[in-house]
Amino acid sequence: MRHFAVIGSGPAGFYTAEALVKAYGETAMVDIIDKLPVPYGLIRFGVAPDHQSIKAVSKRYDKVAEGGQVAFVGNVGVGEAVSIDELKSVYDAVILATGAPHDRKLGIAGEDLPGVVGSAAFVGWYNGHPDFADLDPLLDGQAAAVIGNGNVALDVARILAKTRAEFAGSDIVGHALDALEGSAIRTITIVGRRGPHQIAMTPKELGELGHLEAAVPHVEPDDLPESGADAALDPGVRKSVAHLRDFATPHDDKPKHIEFDFFARPLRIEGDRRAERLIVERTALDEAGQSVGTGEIYAIAAELVVSCIGYQTPRIEGVPYDERGGKFANEDGVIGDGLYAVGWARRGPSGTIGTNRPDGYEVAETIAAALSPGSDGGKAGGDGLAALLVERGVKATSFADWRAIEAREVAAARPDSPREKLVRHDDWLKVLGH
Ligand code: NAP
Repeated sequence: MRHFAVIGSGPAGFYTAEALVKAYGETAMVDIIDKLPVPYGLIRFGVAPDHQSIKAVSKRYDKVAEGGQVAFVGNVGVGEAVSIDELKSVYDAVILATGAPHDRKLGIAGEDLPGVVGSAAFVGWYNGHPDFADLDPLLDGQAAAVIGNGNVALDVARILAKTRAEFAGSDIVGHALDALEGSAIRTITIVGRRGPHQIAMTPKELGELGHLEAAVPHVEPDDLPESGADAALDPGVRKSVAHLRDFATPHDDKPKHIEFDFFARPLRIEGDRRAERLIVERTALDEAGQSVGTGEIYAIAAELVVSCIGYQTPRIEGVPYDERGGKFANEDGVIGDGLYAVGWARRGPSGTIGTNRPDGYEVAETIAAALSPGSDGGKAGGDGLAALLVERGVKATSFADWRAIEAREVAAARPDSPREKLVRHDDWLKVLGH
């Protein structure tokens, strides 16, 4: 028997567990360890609450967890309750699937003013992550700036723009739904340091902005390159740019406006004890397609600033780190002897949820090549971990525990919602009588 510890229960963790079971047949036991008592990582806490069809992928992960060879071990912080070295002593291999849940910083003055938040915090707040349950973002101003031209910026702009009725069917948490309903924000400016041809937004997600009940998107026609230039774009980007061209034509006005401000590089955030405006410099593209400042400086009104400029993997003591990439230092998923990385912790924060499947399967193959299926490493596996946790008084949660929490959340759902998430650590543990 071979015993594996996968750290992190998001998509990368589940696909890797599935792949290890496929590679080893009945001779593998996999523990998916998470610091939170509940599973699914990015699916539960990152994917937008109004994108339920994407979240439905967790049903597939349920099958993995209930297949008999994969156990969920929640409420166990690796690097806190147990160290990597301890895990390596009880498992044949340890695979880090910890994602990239920390915000990259803008690195500009005013970033710490009230009213400035990173997307991990803001998204965590409306998705019920316990670390951000008390974020209470400032929604009392008329204007918000969303920095970044990727899909997370689109998620944030859309969530800020939607009416309460438009959240029907979503699992946005009640505290965020109520706060957003009372929001005074009327103008949401999406700030990109490069141009329409350089966006990282995908067509379906961008197109959604064109169908909002109370908000209308707008692109400055002058920001768009000559339409003939679109032919050279990748098909996906070309479709996205077609949406931007549509947003540059007149549409019926609505109470809220989503303004695309391209070629604008954030310089600083100003305000009297809170954010009031984002100061940007107009940019142009150099020959390599990178943004360079033109010296023209102007202000964008913004009492809320959400930076959506990418994420980082948190460090774990003793694990080599790639500072520039914001991920674990690794070679094709191999960090060192018996230690591997998958998903965003391996590649950095890019790609869709599905990208993590081949990624996990590839690393599982690498592991199978190093530890041949059918061999026995003599490791204690889950029993060894359980003994360590008992020693430390750490009460782990199981998949059955998660099912009990899930049932409580489903029972508490609003009439138009699949669940009302519990958002605090203690509330989860209370359901279990811990
Ligand atoms: P992303 O796609 O990498 O976009 C990051 C954006 O931030 C880019 O436009 C980048 O501009 C900009 N940026 C970076 N540093 C900046 C700075 N200092 N100042 C101003 N702008 C800066 O990242 P993401 O939006 O966080 O998304 C992460 C991944 O999750 C992506 O693969 C995304 O597609 C995926 N995702 C998918 C969905 C969905 O499918 N529905 C939803 C959410 C996220 P430059 O290009 O100039 O660097």
